[in-house]
Amino acid sequence: MQTLTPVTLRSRPSLDETELELINARLESASPSEIIAWAHDRFGDRLAMTASFADTTLIDLATSVAPDVEVIFLDTGFHFAETLNTVRRAMERYALNLTVLRPPADADDVWEHGSDACCAARKVAPLDRYLTGHVDAWLSGLRRVDSPERADTPIVSIDRRGLVKVNPMANMTDDEYESYIADHEVLVNTLAYDGYASIGCWPCTEPSTDGRSGRWGGTKTECGLHL
Ligand code: SF4
Repeated sequence: MQTLTPVTLRSRPSLDETELELINARLESASPSEIIAWAHDRFGDRLAMTASFADTTLIDLATSVAPDVEVIFLDTGFHFAETLNTVRRAMERYALNLTVLRPPADADDVWEHGSDACCAARKVAPLDRYLTGHVDAWLSGLRRVDSPERADTPIVSIDRRGLVKVNPMANMTDDEYESYIADHEVLVNTLAYDGYASIGCWPCTEPSTDGRSGRWGGTKTECGLHL
């Protein structure tokens, strides 16, 4: 006789176009904390966040609302020591529920395969594999002022995986961002004090005072995670 394995089916809470429009209209004037609270209420433990550890602003905001929120760090194998040190400091300060995703040992690299293939293998594929089926929604730290390409970043959208993507800091200005860091004594990657306006992997990041222009030698501004 065939043995049946009991399974629990759960429906994915998705947002249709009408609800998405209404939520974005409502959250456009909400604070980052209010946006995170909405996402946490809606998705509970099926909500996670990603962190690049350029600083811990989004971590500070998110853990204030949901202390156990899962924080995902993409360890490409090419991070600056200063970034890994920021991860360590954040672990100590926030007792993070941290998940570190790493690529396979033979993943494409930037020297032999180029930056598109390297980012795809070391960032995009690991996050795609992990998020799909594991969460229903995720928080990212995109801001509209980061770059012209991010100027239209919505507060809430459906990403290419079909997951709900929430950008609680989308409409934060630089002044608001810097004030939050100062007021909350947010941890900042020490490379920021050495002139790195944007911090990625060491083979592809130069000091820059102009947004993301120090990334990939100016050949691109996005790794593919947010496309
Ligand atoms: S930023 Fe550079 S080193 Fe890092 S994954 Fe992309 S191409 Fe590879």
